[in-house]
Amino acid sequence: MSELNGMMAPEGAAAQAGAEQGFDYLIVGAGFAGSVLAERLATQLGLRVLIVDKRSHIGGNAYDRHDDAGILIHPYGPHIFHTNSADVFDYLSQFTQWRPYQHRVLANVDGQLVPMPINLDTVNKLYGLKLTSFELEAFFESVAEKREQIRTSEDVVVAKVGRDLYNKFFRGYTRKQWGLDPSELDASVTARVPTRTNRDDRYFADTFQAMPLHGYTRMFEKMLAHPNIKIMLNTDYREIQHCIPWKHMVYTGPIDTFFDCKYGKLPYRSLEFRHETLPQEQFQEVGTVNYPNDYGYTRISEFKHITGQKHPHTSVVYEYPRAEGDPYYPVPQPQNAELYKRYEAEAELLPHVTFVGRLATYRYYNMDQVVAQSLATFKKLRQRHEADAAVPAGLFSSAGATRAAAGAGLASPNATSASTTA
Ligand code: FAD
Ligand code: UDP
Repeated sequence: MSELNGMMAPEGAAAQAGAEQGFDYLIVGAGFAGSVLAERLATQLGLRVLIVDKRSHIGGNAYDRHDDAGILIHPYGPHIFHTNSADVFDYLSQFTQWRPYQHRVLANVDGQLVPMPINLDTVNKLYGLKLTSFELEAFFESVAEKREQIRTSEDVVVAKVGRDLYNKFFRGYTRKQWGLDPSELDASVTARVPTRTNRDDRYFADTFQAMPLHGYTRMFEKMLAHPNIKIMLNTDYREIQHCIPWKHMVYTGPIDTFFDCKYGKLPYRSLEFRHETLPQEQFQEVGTVNYPNDYGYTRISEFKHITGQKHPHTSVVYEYPRAEGDPYYPVPQPQNAELYKRYEAEAELLPHVTFVGRLATYRYYNMDQVVAQSLATFKKLRQRHEADAAVPAGLFSSAGATRAAAGAGLASPNATSASTTA
């Protein structure tokens, strides 16, 4: 039986509801992608949704919970919400209040703790200088390496701040995090981190920066608290897809596993998280400290900075990058984008399955980008729903007919279409 704060339908009841009426949507994954779509489909279109996750909780990688000491932690690593999209912020604000929070990161370099992203104070402290912003701009220009084209993650950094700062802040961190040299990774990876000539020491510069006041899990609970949404946890969708009738699937897991890796495995980078609770009020000065050049971990994050919780003890998490394990990061490289395109082309042949989210679309997306992608996907699904509803009874639109047939087939345990499509 699935259970979460009493809001979960028991699996038996979910299955029973499905057996009686069927579900309009089977949603695989209860992270941001799956939850936004479940919420929209249920509340805006009145559709019946079954959301399934193989984990024991909702929220996907953004899930948070209280640890044994009563400190709110993020089991899958620190999740800081930031966005420039008022639409995304307004949408999520229906389900949570916010605590304003601006994330700050220090990097441990040459035995000093200095601001990251690199800014005026970083350079002055590191080199013992007293440059002004204007002088720093000239300094960067003097050390920057000329590049005809910015193609790789090495190009991005050396073309802006030169070789020494690149070596101190980016090369080691990236090699540790990805198991690849920055010269082997797309420019987009290190381009996530800006360089500044002023003293702004915030990690993000987005318009909206805030944490859900009572945590992500509470926010997800509110999103999914609708009588048309049933939740089934500890369940791989493959265990139930043929037993419970549904018409359309939203899939938010890794796209290659959906197709049994028929074109080969898409690379994902994993992490091992080491959580610790310490008998002291504070462990470090800021939310996250990066360790680009030493130790097996990339960074240590202290949750109380991020959540604002007051507690006599403190909990931290160390992140150790791994080649094997749960898939956390798509690996932005041209050959992987090519392989993804082959899977995407297969996905487009399945009108009754919609792929959305970080793993299903193989994009290095932040939470807000996944919400934006899911809201855009909902608009398309709504158009399809309205088009299907407009067709007189007894007739099907071609998409509707295909989906109805595929859904009916998939609903049957003996369906032959099932093994080829899902
Ligand atoms: P997920 O959250 O991965 O949800 C997919 C769900 O599908 C999972 O719960 C999984 O169990 C389930 N699933 C998969 N396969 C199956 C199956 N076969 N059957 C049933 N269920 C299945 N973003 C930010 O904006 N700010 C941050 O600070 C930030 N920090 C991050 C730190 C780390 C260490 C990581 C890894 C990511 C971070 N992110 C951050 C990114 C953020 O986690 C993602 O953008 C977001 O959680 C993706 O949501 P999703 O729904 O696409 O995927
Ligand atoms: N990065 C780095 N040094 C740092 C911080 C980031 O080299 O101190 C690079 C590294 O390649 C990392 C990427 O920039 O993977 C993106 O950093 P971000 O903090 O956005 O990573 P995430 O929070 O997604 O793990």
